[in-house]
Amino acid sequence: MHLTNIESISTLASEGLSCQHCNYDLTGLKLSSNCPECGDPIIMNCFRCEYELVGVDPEGPCPECGYPIQDSIGHGSIARCSASHLATLHKGVFLIQAAVIAWILNIFTGAILGGYFGASGQALPQAVNIGLTVVLGFIGTIFVIGWWKFTSTDPGFSPSSNHASAQRFVRVMLITTAAFMILNVASNALPQSFYNSAIGAIAAFGFLLAALAVWLTFLIAQMLYTKSFAPMILNKKVYKRSKYMLWLGPLLSTVGILIIIGPLIALVLYWNMLDWIRKDLKTIRAVQ
Ligand SMILES: [Zn+2]
Ligand SMILES: [Zn+2]
Repeated sequence: MHLTNIESISTLASEGLSCQHCNYDLTGLKLSSNCPECGDPIIMNCFRCEYELVGVDPEGPCPECGYPIQDSIGHGSIARCSASHLATLHKGVFLIQAAVIAWILNIFTGAILGGYFGASGQALPQAVNIGLTVVLGFIGTIFVIGWWKFTSTDPGFSPSSNHASAQRFVRVMLITTAAFMILNVASNALPQSFYNSAIGAIAAFGFLLAALAVWLTFLIAQMLYTKSFAPMILNKKVYKRSKYMLWLGPLLSTVGILIIIGPLIALVLYWNMLDWIRKDLKTIRAVQ
């Protein structure tokens, strides 16, 4: 490509940069110009503070809040990652979503079967209980694999320190949660007489409290992660949803049990946000 001597390379759209609105490939075009396809300015507003960036030197930070202008254009900094990394993230989000749907179905199946047997004054048969637990274990495994993929890193791409620490936090909580899941399954091997003893009852209650604390911390870690991921895909909706799910998620999954459908509402809000992320990743991959 021929460059005039006054044009430095960073004022031109890098390879793979595409229009925020129409996805037109902007590679090599002047960042201060408009998209030839839809006519929108290539540099619009600051992701963080909405400051109007048209006409500002694209090499520098936002004059209002200091956010790098390069990170406010196109489809966000994630578009600079390798195709294989984007595929891993995409697959991860898909697996988490699939696990959430299967989880909701599992809850409903349990409730319907419980109602069916309860109507005739019976407890759930042991075989049904075991079946539901096995399915739940499988769903949990898919969920963990999904989050592991969604929090993988690209060796050729350095995210913000904010995002890097959120990524480590989710992974630590992911391993802790998986350990609790395994312990929970293993606890089924303990004889009933253990739970009938005072020590056994205290231990079981302590385990339950610890598991709840781990789960809520894991949930908060996930929301911190999606909150720091949102700027990378330039998605304000994901950013806002993550921000209020930081407190609403834990609230709905604990106190929300009182209104019965509280945890279900949390799952729907959570699934919905992941769907926005999945769609963005799909678009970015298609453009790439
Ligand atoms: Zn366009
Ligand atoms: Zn700004």
